[in-house]
Amino acid sequence: MDKPFTQPPTLIGQTLEELESLAISLGSEEFRGRQLFDWIYSKQIDDYQKMSNLSIAFRERLTDFSIHPLKLVNKDISNSKKTQKYLFALQDGKMIESVLMMDGKRITVCLSTQVGCAVDCDFCATAKMGFVQNLTIGEILDQFLQLQKISTRRITNIVFMGMGEPFLNYENTIEAAHLLHHPKGINMGAWRITISTSGITRNIDRFTKEGHSYKLAVSLNASNEQQRLKTMPITKTNPFLGLINASKNYTLRSRKKITFEYVMLSNINDDTKDAKVLIHLLGSIDCKLNIIPYNEIDGSYKRPNDERIDNFLSVLEKAPFPVTIRWSKGQGIDAGCGQLATKTG
Ligand code: SAH
Ligand code: SF4
Repeated sequence: MDKPFTQPPTLIGQTLEELESLAISLGSEEFRGRQLFDWIYSKQIDDYQKMSNLSIAFRERLTDFSIHPLKLVNKDISNSKKTQKYLFALQDGKMIESVLMMDGKRITVCLSTQVGCAVDCDFCATAKMGFVQNLTIGEILDQFLQLQKISTRRITNIVFMGMGEPFLNYENTIEAAHLLHHPKGINMGAWRITISTSGITRNIDRFTKEGHSYKLAVSLNASNEQQRLKTMPITKTNPFLGLINASKNYTLRSRKKITFEYVMLSNINDDTKDAKVLIHLLGSIDCKLNIIPYNEIDGSYKRPNDERIDNFLSVLEKAPFPVTIRWSKGQGIDAGCGQLATKTG
């Protein structure tokens, strides 16, 4: 029986060891793999002809392999030009989005980890797509590499906050973070890489146990179990207090701060009573609280008015932890938090 045709893997997404083995399997020396790693990830060159220290014969053999797993399909630039949303096609034609944000010296890229999302938060546009598939390591990484090529300035920060739940594609997300951080490759500082989870408790525990130095953010979005159950059904299988405990345990074991994200939804979780509960709940945790006024999508949720946001924030002034507010940029082009969704998922 004929073997089904399988596309050879693209080079972006391969680890140092995999590229060394590839070099050997193509009849070259192991160190050629290291040179290839340097071209792809450190020099970020995607044309074999420019990889001048590789032999012509080796370059010739490499042409059987594509470098990029993603194809750039479209881009949307906000009026201020500070937020740019990019649409990429996977090799099978499915689509994902990534966002590039400029804020002074800080250039942040927001990466997707899945096509769609299974978590089904009621307020999020990605949830409406349902879960389609996990992204490969290469597909996660290529969003960064292609946007770095487009960006006139060096990307300073990476957030795994695009489409999908990173902790439901745990291995690929962590391996992509390792490749972003690799000192012989892209060499992004671990503290500049943030992974955001909706609260998959077992994988928060795993992340803690494995001792990674990337930053962790948890999308709390409620001040108690009942409230969270209404907007985030995942709370049924990952109870609220279990999530708080897993987060606290992370900070104690890692000696690192955790960020709690809190999307403010009008008349759902924006009462000053909620702010008081948060102070009590998070007061003993080494954390930062990031308030995100809701970015409206089709649906019934609304952003609280300015007065309610101000009142909420003034209660939080008494909190023992730092509180920041994130006014998502790029809402005009649907590039704000929770607005990413592709029709051709
Ligand atoms: N799945 C991960 C990461 C992607 S979502 C997670 O949920 O953490 C990134 C952030 O956007 C999360 O904090 C999420 O709560 C928030 N978010 C989702 N929909 C939003 C919306 N419509 N407006 C503002 N923030 C939203
Ligand atoms: Fe998935 Fe995060 Fe959206 Fe929830 S908020 S549906 S976890 S992408």
